Amino acid sequence: MTATVLGIADGGAFGGSLRVVVTSPQSLGNARAAVEEVVAAMDEAASRFREDSELSVLNARPDRVTKISPLFAHAIEVALRAAEVTGGAVNPTVGAAVCLSGYDADFSSVAPVGGPMRLVANHVPGWRAIRFSSAARTVLIPRGVELDLGATAKALTADLAAAAALKAAGGGVLVSLGGDIAVAGEPPPGGWPVQVSEDSAATISDTEETISISSGGLATSGTTVRRWVRGGVEMHHIVDPTTGQPAGGRWRTATVAAGGCADANIASTAAIVMGDAAVDWLENHWLAARLVSRDGAVHRTSRWPLPDDSKRIPPIL
Ligand code: AMP
Ligand code: MG
Repeated sequence: MTATVLGIADGGAFGGSLRVVVTSPQSLGNARAAVEEVVAAMDEAASRFREDSELSVLNARPDRVTKISPLFAHAIEVALRAAEVTGGAVNPTVGAAVCLSGYDADFSSVAPVGGPMRLVANHVPGWRAIRFSSAARTVLIPRGVELDLGATAKALTADLAAAAALKAAGGGVLVSLGGDIAVAGEPPPGGWPVQVSEDSAATISDTEETISISSGGLATSGTTVRRWVRGGVEMHHIVDPTTGQPAGGRWRTATVAAGGCADANIASTAAIVMGDAAVDWLENHWLAARLVSRDGAVHRTSRWPLPDDSKRIPPIL
């Protein structure tokens, strides 16, 4: 059997890495262009880091009905569904709490870098208070609520980008946005081999576990990579909406495979927030997941394949 020749293009998106892989290398340029178009559109719609995004404009207009683009409406719909299916563990109104790091004006009382901070331990405002109509494409955010699509928009972008790249390039495509992976079309023989690492920037290594996916998506959430310290207290970027503070549960990393990257990412973020309760939740939702506890012990749900080195295909990601 001859090995499939893949076309691979690397770049950046949303402040992280971007990788596009195609099974027909001659159409790599088309695939990449299609992916970049989707990434740019989502950045305009949902970026928390640019003032002119629809998200920023919306957050600056509380209590008013705002007409939004179809793409932003789609992103909000996914974020609200995430809250619904996770019982609020993944909650798009954690925005203000995430800004504990010091980015948010509401937290202007936050002490300088490294110093102690005044921790405001609040229940994160209810996502149910958001009034969204997908038919009218309008949304209203109550005052005091800040929308943050960080946990879902990137993964949704991977799904949409993979679909767009397939349309543009045919064959089989894989799109990875900082480790949020979506695939579409005909996979290479044996599937797309992906190394499961706690850090998406990890190098390919013989000792790391690899799985292959043939459809849908794969996402990893964790507390080991984006961390910072305030007043000697270690913080990270996944917030427990019931406390408004960094999630303190059993798992430090969760990798989930699902029918799409958005669903995989909803589940991986939820697992970090849910802690112990995540195992039953993942099993009940028939999800393949690999969880790493704070002490490094690995737990695999029943649908996650056991590592089998004899079938090992060298990973491409
Ligand atoms: P992920 O890396 O996919 O788990 O997403 C983490 C990002 O989602 C963070 O950087 C925040 O912007 C946002 N976030 C953190 N905690 C939550 C939460 N409980 N629900 C929804 N979004 C969150
Ligand atoms: Mg993610």
